[in-house]
Amino acid sequence: MSKVIIQECKDYLVDDVMVKINNGIEKLGGWDNFVKPGNTVLLKVNLIGPKTSDSASVTHSEFVRAVTRILIARGCIVWIGDSSGGAIAGIAPTAQSFKVAGYDKVAKEEGAIIKNFDKEGVVEVEPHGKFKEKMYLAKPLFDADVVINLPKLKTHSATIYTGAVKNVFGCIPGLRKAMYHKIAPDKVDFGEILVDIHEGAKFNLHIMDGITSMQGEGPTAGTVYNANKILISTDPLALDTVAIKMLGMNFDDIPVLKSAKKRNLGQCDLAEIEIEGDYNNIPHLKDYKLPKNFKSTKQGNSKAVIKVIDFFKTKPVINKKKCKECNMCVESCPLKAIDIDTKKIDYSKCIECMCCHELCIHKAVELKSDNILAGIIAKFRVK
Ligand code: SF4
Ligand code: SF4
Repeated sequence: MSKVIIQECKDYLVDDVMVKINNGIEKLGGWDNFVKPGNTVLLKVNLIGPKTSDSASVTHSEFVRAVTRILIARGCIVWIGDSSGGAIAGIAPTAQSFKVAGYDKVAKEEGAIIKNFDKEGVVEVEPHGKFKEKMYLAKPLFDADVVINLPKLKTHSATIYTGAVKNVFGCIPGLRKAMYHKIAPDKVDFGEILVDIHEGAKFNLHIMDGITSMQGEGPTAGTVYNANKILISTDPLALDTVAIKMLGMNFDDIPVLKSAKKRNLGQCDLAEIEIEGDYNNIPHLKDYKLPKNFKSTKQGNSKAVIKVIDFFKTKPVINKKKCKECNMCVESCPLKAIDIDTKKIDYSKCIECMCCHELCIHKAVELKSDNILAGIIAKFRVK
């Protein structure tokens, strides 16, 4: 039996959010079950891109502040981490995203540490599902004592819904995310990748920000819906199963979750999920708008997706004219793909993690596209 706590919370006033989260965690046995004083706790947020917290595209910064404040009061060191999307546009927006979402400010004011996954290095993990490619996950996931997933309750025009299971995709740093969209364009297959990440990284707890939710054409182009909910569980699949029911959908409507069921990531049988907190039954979110794609008979055109990814594909290239030979990139490259003398990158080793690009203070590591037109469009998009 899995347990999902549903709390009612009408605003982002930090004291209110803290009370609701603390009361919810009590129902799971209390914070002592999850953290000890002195632990380093990584908060894996949803930082999809440079979007404000009010847009409901990202985990709200005040929600992150509430969890951070709770943990710091318990004597923990708090890291806030993610790697934003944007691989298709060939840019590295994570640092900007931390600023725009308000996390930089929260970290500074609360004493937390920002972990931009694009510059923290990686750990290799062995996937156990359908895809056998070596997986490289952000190192802070393994350096932290405890990892807490803080997903946002949102629709997704491609996968219909995104929550606790899908939020882990940002654990793959940099441009390598695009490779997974390419090898697994089918949604059930993409779910395999997500389960590989969950199995590789081990998340201790999932606390969903559903105070505001993105409805309609999420994850970034929808509208804000005041859902007023916080969902908490140790079981990401149970949490998502409850969340989609709340939005008016069933498990079979969300193909990306099917692999999570097949590989026993958690519970998806509502009869085996206990609801506690401010609700004993799953509430329904009235008039919540689902994506146009929901129940569409049209299958996603995976060939078109692959074409777009290929069109915009970029790779790091060292501009020798700007390079000051400091060797920061050479030393920080987790795959030792950069030649110390020539500064040439061995692309047969490179995993496009972006460490070199993020760490070069001389801006000598550039992202280049083989396609001139794509390069021009990407530049235009950044402006
Ligand atoms: S970090 Fe930048 S400046 Fe330093 S060696 Fe690498 S490319 Fe050159
Ligand atoms: S060269 Fe190394 S640091 Fe740079 S993107 Fe490739 S793997 Fe990452």
